[in-house]
Amino acid sequence: MERETLEFDVVFVGAGPANLSGAYHLARLAKQNNLEIEIAVIEKGSAVGAHILSGAVMDPRALKELIPDFVEQGAPLESPVTDDQFLYLTSKRAIRAPITPPPFKNHGYYIISLNRLTAWLGEKCEEAGVNVFPEFPGADLLYDENDRVAGVRTGDKGIDKEGKPKPNFEPGVDLRAKVTVLGEGPRGSLTKQLVERLGLDEGREPQVYSIGVKELWELPDDRYPAGRVTHTLGFPSDTQTYGGGWIYGMQNNVLNLGYVTGLDYKDPLIDPHAEFQKYKTHPYIAKLLEGGKMIRYGAKTIAAGGLFAMPRTYADGVLLVGDCAGFLNSQRLKGIHSAIKSGMLAAEVIVEALKAEDYSAKQLQRYEQVVNDSWIVPELRKVRNFHAAFKRGRWLGIVNAGLQFFTGGRAWGIFDRDAAHAGHLEMKKLSSYGYKGDSLEQRYNGLRFDGKTTFNKVTDVYHAAVGHDEDQPAHLHVLDTNICSTRCAEEYGNPCQRFCPAAVYEMVDDGANGRRRLQINFSNCVHCKTCDIMDPYQIINWVTPEGGGGPDYKGM
Ligand code: SF4
Repeated sequence: MERETLEFDVVFVGAGPANLSGAYHLARLAKQNNLEIEIAVIEKGSAVGAHILSGAVMDPRALKELIPDFVEQGAPLESPVTDDQFLYLTSKRAIRAPITPPPFKNHGYYIISLNRLTAWLGEKCEEAGVNVFPEFPGADLLYDENDRVAGVRTGDKGIDKEGKPKPNFEPGVDLRAKVTVLGEGPRGSLTKQLVERLGLDEGREPQVYSIGVKELWELPDDRYPAGRVTHTLGFPSDTQTYGGGWIYGMQNNVLNLGYVTGLDYKDPLIDPHAEFQKYKTHPYIAKLLEGGKMIRYGAKTIAAGGLFAMPRTYADGVLLVGDCAGFLNSQRLKGIHSAIKSGMLAAEVIVEALKAEDYSAKQLQRYEQVVNDSWIVPELRKVRNFHAAFKRGRWLGIVNAGLQFFTGGRAWGIFDRDAAHAGHLEMKKLSSYGYKGDSLEQRYNGLRFDGKTTFNKVTDVYHAAVGHDEDQPAHLHVLDTNICSTRCAEEYGNPCQRFCPAAVYEMVDDGANGRRRLQINFSNCVHCKTCDIMDPYQIINWVTPEGGGGPDYKGM
């Protein structure tokens, strides 16, 4: 097949905060150094920010380094944080901590819409001469004859569900580059291929993840002011499951709330979407939402493994930035600042490489050094044992988090290191819990989706404005569907039906043989990557769908 080839100096894959900051900084540095270079940013969504849903609390440290007068330049900030609270939820009560724990103090930070911030950074990039290509999913990495990364191939367009070209068929384009920067977010599909191929995770701990399920609500009045930040612990998670909630007040009486569930849970009946719906039934939250209207829904994973789970972040011709390199601080639930900083550091290292005309791993190794010397690694070192300690349950996790302050981050978590393994291995079989079959009632007894405060997955997905052309091959590759009807049904009750927050996986009757088979409703997918992470047999492979498909959060 004839493919168009475009030559660039640097290609950034994914238009998130890390890559956009990197591309913008690189364009600026190239100009200062009289380097004439071509930079491209490709993005699988229909526009920059289309796959990024709104509210976050941003530590502005890195944005200040990137654009010192970001406020004057009109960065879209919802509100400075004006008020912090930390609540412990029992099933009926909300108990406010007399002192907000230091990791949850957010004064000096901003509540932002990350969607709008990335759109703004995208505009900055274009003004600086960067080529930004939405609807260009990175489908494969290109390698040269010496196995060095040499660019990226974008996905074909116009393939029908049988894999045959349609009249509108357009082959993907080969974007060749001296350096390719992967900023795909957690569990990036190209990053996963690269890490496996080059063994970038050798000697590191497996990455562990959490999933955040969130909704935006329009409230009828200003009962929850813009700038107020609440974090919660307790209800509805059980003490063996890592979880917690957030509530952020945005402009125009919009509330951003969500719930994080660790993707290293044990109970196979856990459903992160149901955990979040149950969260909203708590009297404190339900009262807050009374008379309001849910306007948007989304879900996203975060990489929570921290310092010990970071893969090697460089190889010949390639760098990893942001969440796909695991730079998120899971204790503070913040990664935007380190994503921006890592993009900037990548840009600085690339300029040195361009000057030396050397794009080898030996030259790009400098990136690891500058990340270590920056504030990213010291920040992560202080919380390096945070997540691991929660494996022993909520209370020991909390004590460990407190001990970190007095031990420079060591706490006792160091003793847990040998036991580190991927989160899906934590899931126990149905029989260990005495469950009969896969009925959710056994865990979520009494949870009802009333269409007012609580919603089923299909209703929620409608509010993610997800769109995928139905006549294309499914982008969820299940390598052996026999396992689904046999072993998995028996052992785990097909947990994909529960851990997917978008009702993509459904076990349906398979005619007269009395078995059930897997049906994949791929067009619902909100691109959270949970299935790729949490499948107990690791036979689900998430690949990029046709460009432009997925959720559409523009302007939210
Ligand atoms: Fe997330 Fe996978 Fe479901 Fe898509 S199919 S929404 S990536 S869990």
